[in-house]
Amino acid sequence: MLKTEEIDKLFEAIQQYQNIVLMIHRNPDGDAMGAALSFQRLLVKLNKKVNVIAPNMFPDFLGWMKGSEEIIIASEQFKLASQLIDQAELIVSMDFNSFSRLGTELEPLLIQSKAVKALIDHHLEPDLSFDILCSEIDTSSTCEIVFQLIKDSTYESYFDKYMAEHLYVGIATDTGSFSYNCNRPSTYDAISYLMKLGIDGEAIHRMVYDTYSENRMRLLGLCLSERLVVLPEFSASFIYLTKEDLKKYDYQTGDTEGVVNYGLSISGINITALFTERDNKTRISFRSKGEFDVNMFARTHYNGGGHRNASGADSKESLDETIQIFKEALSLYKNQLNF
Ligand code: 5GP
Ligand code: MN
Repeated sequence: MLKTEEIDKLFEAIQQYQNIVLMIHRNPDGDAMGAALSFQRLLVKLNKKVNVIAPNMFPDFLGWMKGSEEIIIASEQFKLASQLIDQAELIVSMDFNSFSRLGTELEPLLIQSKAVKALIDHHLEPDLSFDILCSEIDTSSTCEIVFQLIKDSTYESYFDKYMAEHLYVGIATDTGSFSYNCNRPSTYDAISYLMKLGIDGEAIHRMVYDTYSENRMRLLGLCLSERLVVLPEFSASFIYLTKEDLKKYDYQTGDTEGVVNYGLSISGINITALFTERDNKTRISFRSKGEFDVNMFARTHYNGGGHRNASGADSKESLDETIQIFKEALSLYKNQLNF
């Protein structure tokens, strides 16, 4: 639950401080971008000096979002990012729940910073070391929280069409275009409100989803025809991609976004994973249906985390070894998975 006293502390800090940094997680997604860009727009209207910092570049399909060109990408402008963090009086972390989600370069900077540290997020088990904790897990997205925070504040009249676009992007992408984590009326109340601010939801969907390069589409084809493995005895499936696969299709950031969900579209499958071979690690995404908790699964077996039905992790093991761990772990949950 969002706590009133934490919300009050957040807005008091906003009134008090001039230099504000909004931090989003590594591999920024639509929710992180939407939350930070809309909140930045509000804060700029309040005459604050506010920068958004991302650990690394966002995917191309979010490049149309107003203000995205001004996001400081720490992997490209590390000096500037560290200066801004150093000067910040208030740092608001958005759409991630622990400093480790920033990556090894930015994490120590945030930990060392003397700024007041706030969190606005919807992930399970937030790090309790934040000074201000606006955390709510029963919601579609961080964008829905930002929407609610602004709407219930004295700044409701500051909403504009761009903020509405940003918030819509986050809610739409974090719910897989309103197909999961979207069974609460409040989500649609928010969407209705945002629509009335004049956004074109259909056009936003086209800009976010109908932007595949030919290579990305063919990589998806490879995933589905050659790299999908189904394990009916565990109601499980997974897709794996090797470094050679990524090279062959000239992989760009974001090209595997959404691929993991296909494994769950198979009838009778309750858990799925995408394993992507990277330099010195294997990146993992998990998805599940119903009660099966892949946040717990990722935490227990790979030191990762996320939400009940969508989580992720980085494995230090090879691709083969990481897949082997997955298969062995599945056998521990056979009964829970065959529902
Ligand atoms: P995705 O599969 O889209 O990369 O991630 C799904 C969800 O899991 C995201 O909402 C994200 O918060 C969480 N997540 C992904 N990777 C990690 C990770 O390495 N550590 C933790 N704690 N959470 C992750
Ligand atoms: Mn999110």
